[in-house]
Amino acid sequence: MRHTLLFLCLFSLFISSCTKREKDYVRVGFAFDTVCSVQIFTKGNEKEANVILDQIFEKLNQLEFIFSPTLKESELSKFNEAPTDVSVKLSDELYYVVKENLKVAKETNGAFNPFLGKVTKLWRPLWQNTSESEGHPSLPTEADIAGALQRVDYQSIVLQDRTAKKIKDVELDLGASAKGYATDCIKDILLKAGIKRAIIDLGGNIAVLNKKENGDLWKVGIKMPIVHSQGRVAGYLETCDRAVVTSGNYERFVEVEGKLYHHIISGKTGKPVDNELRAVTIVSPNALLADILSTSCFVLGKKEGQKLLKQFPSTFAIFFFKDASVIEVNGEAEHFNIIDNSLRKVKEK
Ligand code: AMP
Ligand code: MG
Repeated sequence: MRHTLLFLCLFSLFISSCTKREKDYVRVGFAFDTVCSVQIFTKGNEKEANVILDQIFEKLNQLEFIFSPTLKESELSKFNEAPTDVSVKLSDELYYVVKENLKVAKETNGAFNPFLGKVTKLWRPLWQNTSESEGHPSLPTEADIAGALQRVDYQSIVLQDRTAKKIKDVELDLGASAKGYATDCIKDILLKAGIKRAIIDLGGNIAVLNKKENGDLWKVGIKMPIVHSQGRVAGYLETCDRAVVTSGNYERFVEVEGKLYHHIISGKTGKPVDNELRAVTIVSPNALLADILSTSCFVLGKKEGQKLLKQFPSTFAIFFFKDASVIEVNGEAEHFNIIDNSLRKVKEK
């Protein structure tokens, strides 16, 4: 009798732990110059969730001390300050991200260029303020831009055995990929901690882990890619285990005398890219790659961007054009659902 009771107690404990619903815990913080939020779903308690969230935000802090272009003491700033022709030992993380960046720099013939630092630092003080022009530093002069453009060759670096050597006076700017890499690091922390379900949002770089608890796909909304969109949503996609990363001309910008100057720069002109695009969204299991490719496609424009994506057939992309048309690239398995009826989907050509 006693044995039967014990068995029943244990059995009902087992059943209740199986049927217990997951709870979600959210942490919002500031890192990489943007608002970051991480929402985890777990059957664990609040204390356990907080330990994991602490770990994640500590990691973000640590990554800022590697990748920040503005913190003087970051590893990246120190590398930029280092003299040419001297080998500098890099952390594994910086080494890896630079290497991944260089692969795509080569692939895009330098349109995607992690060594645009001399040029982007002329523009950064403008982007970092509000979108109004009053009280801003003035635009960089043509002479400043021309001078900086002399020192942006991505082939000016030798990477070997965890060290890097600049052979010309170039500067790194990993703004196009650091948040993607950070997203992948967060995913690793979550999986190691046994968290199977989460939503990561690093300033609009989104990643979803797994499906919803009921087995449904997550719905990931994409903002209307226009300035002052005031909460308008362009549409959404339904997905799982993917990063969804957008690069566009409407988020970081400064307005001077009625003209907008955004933060994605052409290595040819040293000025904001001006083509037919408003934005490109990339959907991929790898957030670093998604981040690199979204910036790359935005710089390359429609034709060359599509060509680049043919090398990544499992990477789904959405191109938003200034004429309000939208195309899907590699859209065999996924698709984008338009909500804002000013947009129209057209066939990829
Ligand atoms: P994202 O928002 O990911 O498209 O990245 C934009 C950021 O990448 C900018 O703020 C710069 O730090 C950097 N960047 C700007 N232009 C380029 C470019 N042509 N190639 C690589 N990085 C760039
Ligand atoms: Mg990017």
